[in-house]
Amino acid sequence: MAKSTKKKHWIKSEWSMAIIGALFSLIFTIIYDYFKSNPFLSTIGKFFKFIYHSIIGFLTFDIKVWWILCFFIVLIIAICLINVFQKNDTTIKEELPKFIEYKEDWIKGYDFKWNWYKNNGQWTLGHITVKCPKCQTPMNPNYAQYYRCPRCNHEPENQIMMNDIRSIIIDNSNRMVES
Ligand SMILES: [Zn+2]
Repeated sequence: MAKSTKKKHWIKSEWSMAIIGALFSLIFTIIYDYFKSNPFLSTIGKFFKFIYHSIIGFLTFDIKVWWILCFFIVLIIAICLINVFQKNDTTIKEELPKFIEYKEDWIKGYDFKWNWYKNNGQWTLGHITVKCPKCQTPMNPNYAQYYRCPRCNHEPENQIMMNDIRSIIIDNSNRMVES
């Protein structure tokens, strides 16, 4: 790791860049002269000449200051837009609490399902449903909060108390937030 950073530093230094540049142009001149002196390779020589002039032309290209300004303005706008979109993404994620996917659980021998909804900025436990284990008909608690299947009259052996189930679900969701 230390070796590679040392190497990078060496390549980056000004004098090494100057030597590399000089060597590069020297090699190019040798190649260019060689091909120029050999008539059989004059086509390849022209090709190298073209590449050489293209590189020189690119490196010595006249750049207007306003082009650079435009480039930086576009770059800054692009960075700002990316930041805004990323911020929007994270705020959407932050709004959803950990327990939002907790919508089903096996409690007291029954498979309960429910939903969450937002009420005055607070996530609230919505409607809880439980199906009859024998015929899968939704069981509704009667006025005394006792569950009974309307189809097969199945009744839980240990009666389910709606408030207990609500308390367990809310406690489980709070534990998810705390963890
Ligand atoms: Zn039933």
